[in-house]
Amino acid sequence: ASAVRETSSVSHTDAENVVIVGSGPAGYTAAIYAARANLKPVVFEGFQNGRGGQLMGTTEVENFPGFPEGVTGPELMDLMRRQAERWGAELFTEDVEWIDLDSRPFTIKSTDRQVKAHSIIMATGATAKRLGFPTEQTYWAKGISACAICDGASPLFKKREVAVVGGGDSACEEAVYLTKYAEQVHLLVRGDKLRASKAMQDRTLENKMITVHFNIAVEDAYGESLLQGLHVYNTKTGVRSTLDVAGLFYGIGHQPNSKLISHRVEVDEKGYVKVQHGVSTNVPGVFAAGDLHDPEWRQAITAAGSGCKAALSAERYLTANS
Ligand code: FAD
Repeated sequence: ASAVRETSSVSHTDAENVVIVGSGPAGYTAAIYAARANLKPVVFEGFQNGRGGQLMGTTEVENFPGFPEGVTGPELMDLMRRQAERWGAELFTEDVEWIDLDSRPFTIKSTDRQVKAHSIIMATGATAKRLGFPTEQTYWAKGISACAICDGASPLFKKREVAVVGGGDSACEEAVYLTKYAEQVHLLVRGDKLRASKAMQDRTLENKMITVHFNIAVEDAYGESLLQGLHVYNTKTGVRSTLDVAGLFYGIGHQPNSKLISHRVEVDEKGYVKVQHGVSTNVPGVFAAGDLHDPEWRQAITAAGSGCKAALSAERYLTANS
């Protein structure tokens, strides 16, 4: 029997050609391409974090091509969603609870339904780790950000003092990056040394616009409507103090959302899905797109690009196995 069904024969008693899990730039781009290839993709958008992925939590996106004046994250995701829908993707705002990859077709169980599919594109993204102090949510996107490349150029931070929390490569990179815009960058390190590579440490420590504070942890933040500073404490002495900053950037890592498949699909030590040829996992017919497999670039455009690759790869896989 052909694995690729005709466009007109949508029937949920049958196995779907492709199920896409996730509704960030990777998931929606995969949905647009798969829908245009007449694969009638079924998309589980997820509801716990709200559909649309990480960009739903940001205001201006200034670096996605095609929007010279910028676009808000929610607006961009709504446009992608509408484009996927227009070409016939079937969207369910439901979380997937488990996936059976042991028998074929695969089974995908969401909060509300169970479907079978000949191929799966996983695009569940990664979640930036947060510190979880009391007013974190109050100042989120009002001074607190998990992405220096995305938000560093905002007028909120231009010629202002900002802080980066973390001591590894990402934190150092964020700190160096932010010196382009900020007046002064404070790197707040919990321990007594940096964990970044030697080269990155040197770049950080030699940069006169970066002040590295060792044994410092953030306890809370303050400000009126926008962030104005941090309550910090010394992790060795316990002594509390404040630091006036307009920005707090997190460089404490991301958690890839790979739990649904990591029992069968190979992941690295941090949980990122291992891929060959851009998007193929070790399980034929299962593809991974976006931040789920990408600890390095983590941008909307790179996620969208790999969503495109995943849909084209799924199409080729279905054709080859029909
Ligand atoms: P995500 O956007 O993380 O989407 C993952 C999706 O998977 C979500 O829809 C989620 O609901 C869904 N999901 C997870 N688990 C399940 C499940 N069990 N069942 C169903 N669905 C599930 N990048 C830029 O290029 N420019 C920017 O200006 C920019 N600003 C940013 C600002 C912030 C604050 C943050 C956090 C990131 C920013 N980024 C920016 C990075 C960008 O958002 C990410 O690189 C991009 O969203 C990754 O896309 P993705 O599709 O891989 O995953």
